[in-house]
Amino acid sequence: MVNAEIGVIGGSGFYSFLEDVTEVQVDTPYGSPSDSLFLGELAGRRVAFLPRHGRGHHLPPHRINYRANLWALRSVGVRQVLGPCAVGGLREEYGPGTLLVPDQLVDRTKARAQTYFDGLPLPDGTIPNVVHTTFADPYCPNGRKVALAAADGRGWQAVDGGTMVVIEGPRFSTRAESRWHAAMGGSVVGMTGHPEAVLARELGLCYTSLTLVTDLDAGAETGEGVSHTEVLKVFGENVARLREVLFDAVGALPAAEDRDCLCGHAHDGWELGIELP
Ligand SMILES: [Zn+2]
Repeated sequence: MVNAEIGVIGGSGFYSFLEDVTEVQVDTPYGSPSDSLFLGELAGRRVAFLPRHGRGHHLPPHRINYRANLWALRSVGVRQVLGPCAVGGLREEYGPGTLLVPDQLVDRTKARAQTYFDGLPLPDGTIPNVVHTTFADPYCPNGRKVALAAADGRGWQAVDGGTMVVIEGPRFSTRAESRWHAAMGGSVVGMTGHPEAVLARELGLCYTSLTLVTDLDAGAETGEGVSHTEVLKVFGENVARLREVLFDAVGALPAAEDRDCLCGHAHDGWELGIELP
């Protein structure tokens, strides 16, 4: 059956070894997602995995079709999403290997479609209304608790809360940008956390970000600056335990009908003008 209740947006390291994975191609009114969805059962739950950058990692952060990705996940039944991603630490104490579950984000992206409510007609002719989405707390409070407990259960003391600054990329920050991000209260910096979170909210999905620090950002270190080799090395060292934490979190998320957070109520009282999948 082509359905799932929980979505995980991350690399192939998170699902490639699962048995009985079904690959499903999903088309959306916004075009194609980054790749097929890979559906399987995990911890007794139906999970849809989506490689954020496509298999083979061919999509840079600014060219990911975030709208198609979230829409595709919702269309197979997903109501809760876990979004692991690699980030740079903006503070010395958040060095490589730190797991931080943010509670805030700052959007510094420049050219990404970040709403379904843009007033433009969908292929079926329906036109979304002007809708303003509540986003004061961008992440699901329940999902955050579940993620932190899962990390704790695996002996990985995660940082509870912090602000993820999301930059356009694909280049890394200059030292001045990096120091500025830290001075304005940023904890970590990444390139994919937005608009993933807001699009999930627009679709009434619970969204939880788990950030793995792979390097200290340019303003927080004194060496040559961020290198790709360094990022890959730290990610490789930590991907197995991040997978364990993710899978434990999948098993511990509430059933969709038992969600008692506000994530699914962001648009109560609004006429959307379009039918969500
Ligand atoms: Zn929620």
